[in-house]
Amino acid sequence: MSDLTTLTIVKAHEGLIKKEFSALELTKAYLDRIREEDEKIHAFLVVLEELAFSQAKEIDDLISLKKETPLLAGIPLAIKDNILIDGIKCTAASKILEDYTATYDATCIKKLKNAGAVFLGKVNLDEFAMGSSCENSAFVQTRNPHDLNRVPGGSSGGSAASVSARLSAGALGSDTGGSIRLPASFCGVVGMKPTYGRVSRYGLIAMASSLDQIGPFAKTVEDAEIIFKTICGEDSLDSTSIEREDIKREKFDIKKLRIGVPKEYFIEGMNLEVEKNIRQAIKKYEELGVKIEEVSLPHTEYAMPVYYIICASEVSSNMARYDGIRYGKRSSKGENLLDTYLNSKSEGLGDEVRRRVMLGTYVLSSGYYDAYYVRAQKIRSLIKQDFDKAFKKVDIILTPTSPCTAFSLGEKTKDPLTMYLSDVFVGAVNLAGLPAISIPCGKVDNLPVGLQLIGKPFDEKTIFEAGKIAENFQAPIMGE
Ligand code: GLN
Repeated sequence: MSDLTTLTIVKAHEGLIKKEFSALELTKAYLDRIREEDEKIHAFLVVLEELAFSQAKEIDDLISLKKETPLLAGIPLAIKDNILIDGIKCTAASKILEDYTATYDATCIKKLKNAGAVFLGKVNLDEFAMGSSCENSAFVQTRNPHDLNRVPGGSSGGSAASVSARLSAGALGSDTGGSIRLPASFCGVVGMKPTYGRVSRYGLIAMASSLDQIGPFAKTVEDAEIIFKTICGEDSLDSTSIEREDIKREKFDIKKLRIGVPKEYFIEGMNLEVEKNIRQAIKKYEELGVKIEEVSLPHTEYAMPVYYIICASEVSSNMARYDGIRYGKRSSKGENLLDTYLNSKSEGLGDEVRRRVMLGTYVLSSGYYDAYYVRAQKIRSLIKQDFDKAFKKVDIILTPTSPCTAFSLGEKTKDPLTMYLSDVFVGAVNLAGLPAISIPCGKVDNLPVGLQLIGKPFDEKTIFEAGKIAENFQAPIMGE
């Protein structure tokens, strides 16, 4: 039997229903590989061997009874460790949640369980999903499977690295300001952020609630679409989730597609080889009959400052609950309640989380609220309007996912601002609530490049279809 970890979800499903191999064998292949390779990659915080085998066995029983088997039945997935699985520890890669065990399933987990997916384990992230390199995890440093001295991107670095190194067939991550797309691009896999509200956030440890979305990682666009379709939908437990029909379009016709290329996304200082790869992809679309149009998103330059003001404000409010009393590990030091609060937070939370709590508290404090928070919200509307205007002319917008390829470990940790700038091409999408996907687009110096396709609200369908075409522009570039 060939190496089962090389199969896409679609192929693995075919093999399972044709009984070429069992779900137990498929799961074992991944667990064996995790045992061998994860010592180098450090994608996993915990491997759920027992759970995975029992889930796989159930699927084998189902298949032997010739019961209908959903596409994800028996497919081994990795789950970012800020998404709750009932009875399993969920740390958000923070010391403050080191001993926290989830008491319920996130809605997306419930849906994956109903579809028969197998959970291999919980994977690493930047603490509470704050970061772009996975270096803010309190526990381990995940490495890029393409070059172990480089970061996998963040915050969903464990999810991206696990798919890239074939330690999982697919994964869930969360994207607040690029945390699915950036690591997908650095690790050479597909990563997709759905429209805000498409996927329930119930059971996702909140970072910035007006921006957070859960989404899939996979080897191919088709696989990512399968995971997305399984987890999306309205949920009474998340009032911001909504059910919407995909924008009606007869059959996807590449010749009718109009792609917008924003001039503000090809900036000075970006890696010229990365730009070349992206321009080649644009040319290939054009050769297929796609109409390429230059569009303008004039408020792009404000996206990062606005993102980091709104994000920090929401972070400061969401982090208030981790005080050692209501939630989180309690410090044993201190004479009174205030000491307990202060010590629990300073012992339990890392530098980046505390930096954002302070920044957000400052921004929201009286006297500064109007100058920063309210102004940022106004510019957020202008950013959204830029996209609305562009989408009157085009169906999707194409950009690089990142101005550079994966950077070296430690390269940006000393300067939070340079780290924040890694998100320049991904953050505006969250501010505008749009769906977007990152697709591998060749390599530069042996490191993957990502191509980003941004869609109209609730038009995931078009970015998936256009993405399936773009992934054939290059030979596959999975990690070792
Ligand atoms: N890098 C961004 C940040 O640190 C994005 C994080 C995310 O999407 N979770 O805020």
